[in-house]
Order: sequence, then structure tokens, then C-alpha cells
Amino acid sequence: MARRSGQTGADLRAVSQNVARPMSKLVAEAIWLAGIVAWYVIRHPYHRRARKTPVARTFQDRLEWALLAAATVGLFIVPAFYVATGIPAGLDRPFVPSLAGIGVLVLAAALWLFWRSHADLGRNWSASLKLREGHKLITGGVYREIRHPMYSSFLLLGFAQCLLLPNWLAGCAGLAGAALLFALRVAREEQMMGDLFGAEYRAYMARTKRIIPWIY
Ligand code: SAH
Repeated sequence: MARRSGQTGADLRAVSQNVARPMSKLVAEAIWLAGIVAWYVIRHPYHRRARKTPVARTFQDRLEWALLAAATVGLFIVPAFYVATGIPAGLDRPFVPSLAGIGVLVLAAALWLFWRSHADLGRNWSASLKLREGHKLITGGVYREIRHPMYSSFLLLGFAQCLLLPNWLAGCAGLAGAALLFALRVAREEQMMGDLFGAEYRAYMARTKRIIPWIY
């Protein structure tokens, strides 16, 4: 390849070293932020479409509001505040580029699963415990092996946050919020689905796991 005039071997070495340089804290934070924007972009059209399908029954009580708030604070508000201000700096941990690199892969997996679970649930999706008119039981796509792929995606998003943000509070808050949402909602959701779909849901439960294929 022809060199541009004035470009020396030293320049080219500097460029290649730049490419190979390990990820910086700033880049990791920018990737986390891009992930959150992607999360919103994925959810928005499904949210708009689902809103057009009337709700037949809602089980959205105070606990549900509290769980949604906990997940929002942990996955978005605390880390966004940290990225914007660096607070609480006293809880910073050393930045480890290789961990952040794994965080990028986990983030990509979380977003893929988040997208696929919305696509598969379609008009049956709700942010909370709700049944839509004409609600259908989805058992295909990413719902084939696990019953709660969207919660798996939240937990993966929480793990990615831990790996990308080098702060004990801002890093761990997402996993704590997602784990709380999962732990306190899942049995109630399965009860709700079991009441509506009866034997069909019980059979689906018997042949699937909750969040990790073949394991749990
Ligand atoms: N727990 C699922 C869905 C989260 S969205 C997951 O993690 O992927 C929550 C709503 O989805 C619930 O209120 C319920 O109405 C609906 N839902 C959950 N599982 C479903 C299924 N297999 N088929 C259709 N709707 C489902």
C-alpha cells in the first residue's frame, strides 16, 4: 500500500500501538452508555405496539412498583450518576481492561437476548405483571428452553455493568436491582400464568428452566 507523503514508519507504529492499546475507563463508560441507549432503542417500538393491546387483568401492586423502581435505580440511575459525576469516588476499584473486555461481550449478549425476548413475546409483553386481551402463551424462540429470558437479559446487563464500571456501588447496583426484581417477581408471575393457562403452563414449566438453559 502506498504511503501518504510525510507519513513515517514511526507514525505508522504509533497508529498500530494505538489500536492495540487496552481499553480505558472512559471508553468502558462510553460503551456502558451506548448499551443503555441501545436498550431503550430496542424496547421503544415494542412498548408502543404493546400499548395498543388492551390489558385484561393487572397485578401491578405496590410491590411491583417498588421492584420496577429498584431495577431502574440500580441499572440506570446510580450508574448514570457515577458516569456523569464520578461519585462515589471513595468506592472506586482499579480499572481492569480485560474485565471490561469481557463486560463488552456480556453486554452484547444481554442486548441480543433483550431484543429476542421482546420480539418473541410481541403484544403479550408488559413491563409489569399484566395479562393482555387474547394473551397467548409463548413457548418458542428464546422461550423454548427458559421461561424468563428477559430477566436473564437484565441479570446479564447487571453483570456487564459490574465488569465495565470500576466502582463497587455503581458497578454492583444493577445486578442487585435485577436480582431483586427477579427474586420477588418470578413466583408471582408463574402463578399468574399458571392460573390463566393451567395445564398448558404447567407442562411448559416442567420442560423448561427459569433463566439458565438446562441448569436453573
Ligand atoms: N418473565 C418473562 C417475561 C417478562 S415481561 C421473561 O423474563 O422473559 C412480563 C410479562 O410477560 C408478564 O406480565 C406476562 O404477562 C408476560 N409473559 C411472561 N411469560 C410469558 C409467556 N411465556 N408467554 C406469554 N406471555 C408471557
